[in-house]
Amino acid sequence: MKRIAVFCIPAHGHTNPMLPVAAELVKRGNEVRFYSFNEFEDKIKATGASFVSCDSFLPELTEQEEEGLKNVSTTEMTIQDIRITLSMDSFLDGEFNTFRPDVIYTDSVCFWGKLNALKHNVPMVVSTSTFAFNQMSSQYMKNSSKELADMIFGLPKISKELKTLEPYGYHIKNALSLIQSDNNTDSVVYTSKRFQPFSESFSDRYAFVGPSVFSSALPNKTKERPLVYISMGTVINDRPDFYAKCINALKNENVDVIISCGNSMNIDKLGTLPENIQVFPYVNQLDVLSRADAFITHCGMNSVSESLYMATPLVLYPQTSEQKAVAKRVTDIKAGVLLSDDSVDGIRACVNEILNNPEYSKAAKACSEDFRSCPGATGAAEFIESAPHPSSGVDPLKELNKKNGKIQILYWSIVTALILLFGFLISWKFVWIVGVLGGTLSYPITKFIQNRKYRSLLKK
Ligand code: UDP
Repeated sequence: MKRIAVFCIPAHGHTNPMLPVAAELVKRGNEVRFYSFNEFEDKIKATGASFVSCDSFLPELTEQEEEGLKNVSTTEMTIQDIRITLSMDSFLDGEFNTFRPDVIYTDSVCFWGKLNALKHNVPMVVSTSTFAFNQMSSQYMKNSSKELADMIFGLPKISKELKTLEPYGYHIKNALSLIQSDNNTDSVVYTSKRFQPFSESFSDRYAFVGPSVFSSALPNKTKERPLVYISMGTVINDRPDFYAKCINALKNENVDVIISCGNSMNIDKLGTLPENIQVFPYVNQLDVLSRADAFITHCGMNSVSESLYMATPLVLYPQTSEQKAVAKRVTDIKAGVLLSDDSVDGIRACVNEILNNPEYSKAAKACSEDFRSCPGATGAAEFIESAPHPSSGVDPLKELNKKNGKIQILYWSIVTALILLFGFLISWKFVWIVGVLGGTLSYPITKFIQNRKYRSLLKK
């Protein structure tokens, strides 16, 4: 029996996969304390874990800060994470001294969980609610210019904020080191090794346990006519414009439709609903997905995992770079189509493509079988109980980076030689063109070579 402290940020997508694991840890006789927020109290208590409310530590937000969080600004989220860590500092010192946890199970972006595990020298297992991202798998993430600008202009603000943690005994290299997955930390990822991009670049300190869900239901698609489920998740879901287009696209089709629109939207905005369409603020998503034949989704990692677990193919409508990475992985395995034209006609065409082409449901079914063969919440609980895990000393990413370093030196030596040659033989005036060309080509060439090295690593 172990004392296990669980930490998560106030977000459904991050909390949900930790709940079945907490329930399993309790079932196995561990004493589990879940530090979370009142919104999740009932769900947490239902796992058998004791709930510790952290709402009083949430800082008052200005309108601008609230807007930043609503728009999933990385800068704003990082700053608020740091502020919550500071406001919880003395409370958590007390908790660590009295509860004396043997293991910390913390969400990957929950700074107060991660930093207190390090400060109090307690073994930690990180819960990764999306894909694990390192230099290889982040190739799947293409930040929009808005996201890039937010990150670049936010850096000075974040470094200033990080400095405030130092006097409290939290030592941090930089913000990225707090968020990115690393091969020396025990980590649970709620997907299969097959679905995780570049899974072989992660060390054996990663447990790819598959989706962590409460449902034991099997997919059952037998019914009179197809069911289409639509949800934009629990964060950016106030999208009456999009739901209205979906309604228009599907009202005259021979399908039933269920829309989960979230709590912040007034359903009346959608007017009188056609007989084949129902709209709810929140549904039992796993239950609906077990019966659904197509899912129009914002591509949150949990929603996509749950859909594939229930063998439901997807219409992919990602909004953030992280969601775009998840969508790309689904199209890789051909279990969904990207909604690139979100007009009424575009939505109808994508839904019909999913419903009429059996290849998508076949691919989703194969993924469901793969997910169901993973160890799930039980595997995650075993992994947490036995932390810290010894390292085998094999770090595939280090190998890849070493090779990449050599390639970079070679590449830039060639570019320098070309610049000199161009200058001496042709013209010094236009030598900058070779420099710009060298810089532009550097990323795709490095990526190409790195991917080749990765494939040769797989063969070994
Ligand atoms: N969810 C649910 N009912 C709903 C809408 C969402 O149970 O009506 C759950 C869903 O099952 C998933 C989570 O909320 O576990 C959403 O997480 P996801 O990562 O997909 O997206 P986010 O809300 O974090 O953007």
